[in-house]
Amino acid sequence: MATTALIHSDDWRRFDYGAQHPLRMERLGLTWRLMESYGLTTLPGAALHRPESAPEAAIARYHHPEYIEMLKACNNGMPPRAAAMFGLGPGDNPVFRGVWDCARLVAGGSMLAADLVARGEVTRAFHFAGGLHHAVDQRASGFCYVNDAVLAIMRLREHGLRVAYVDIDAHHGDGVQAAFYGNPNVLTISTHERGERLFPGTGFVREVGEGDGVGYSVNLPLEAYTDSAVYLPAFEEVVPPLLEAFKPDVVVAQLGIDAHRTDPLTHLALDIQGFAKAVQRITEMAPRLVALGGGGYDLENVARGWTAAWAVINGVELPSALPPAYVEEARKFGLHAKSLWDEPAEIADEIRDAVKTYVGRQVTEVRQTLFPLHRI
Ligand SMILES: [Zn+2]
Repeated sequence: MATTALIHSDDWRRFDYGAQHPLRMERLGLTWRLMESYGLTTLPGAALHRPESAPEAAIARYHHPEYIEMLKACNNGMPPRAAAMFGLGPGDNPVFRGVWDCARLVAGGSMLAADLVARGEVTRAFHFAGGLHHAVDQRASGFCYVNDAVLAIMRLREHGLRVAYVDIDAHHGDGVQAAFYGNPNVLTISTHERGERLFPGTGFVREVGEGDGVGYSVNLPLEAYTDSAVYLPAFEEVVPPLLEAFKPDVVVAQLGIDAHRTDPLTHLALDIQGFAKAVQRITEMAPRLVALGGGGYDLENVARGWTAAWAVINGVELPSALPPAYVEEARKFGLHAKSLWDEPAEIADEIRDAVKTYVGRQVTEVRQTLFPLHRI
């Protein structure tokens, strides 16, 4: 019997945000190739699933009907004039041919992951095309059209499950936080580069939720150049105690890999080892797990990071040398990595000290503000 599920579709090749856009669809195919080359797509105990597009009614459980109508109107690649009012148009959220089909497929994959886990068919599922955490009910934001993470959490809630959301993308998981800001049955935790420095400009410790939801939104802002040596202890001081106190039935994890030190859009400095370690901790703490992808704009990191994550989710140890079949394929994209893991990188002492001071202060503030609310 399968205990894990990997959700993947080749249909992504049909879509393209545009030549100048940092979100390259190739990253999904390349990730699949690396998983395949390592033998991770034929693991005993791991089922493969092809997602179906989510029906409109399922998306309408969260997104506003007028916004859905606009996405449908944009599906031919030609935006009506009013599209800009919904965040659609040149820039972050381009209108490309099939934009609505693409959004439905992302949503379908994450809802499938949620269903498989909620029905007890598997304990852990990974949909690496998902995790588009910025979209809100009435508009697109930050390369995200439909918030598949919100839809997956809602699906789990419909099964009566208590959900913790842990988001390790370099950007604040603002859309997911907003959707459950007043809800004490969904704990959202996001670690990210500080809002003064990076889109979307939110995710401060003081954003703790509202009404009955006070205490159930948790944010740990990080300083530029935060590396694994600073990140992992900070993660450890914040995330496990909160999860232990909240006692979720299921954890939804957003595993954006744009906190990596070579990511072109952000300024954090994690390596693949640190990312994989964080995924391992989340996996250990999750009674059941719905893992989603997220950001990541250096193709090589995306393939290596999510392959390492899928190995962790299955308890498989991988040899560090990248398989020759993948290395060959990656060369077509101008990529030359030979190892799954990164070389150590030097960070100047004065920078490391400043980063440690900032992150340490944020950790203290989180613990002082939120822990008493959970009787920790
Ligand atoms: Zn991101």
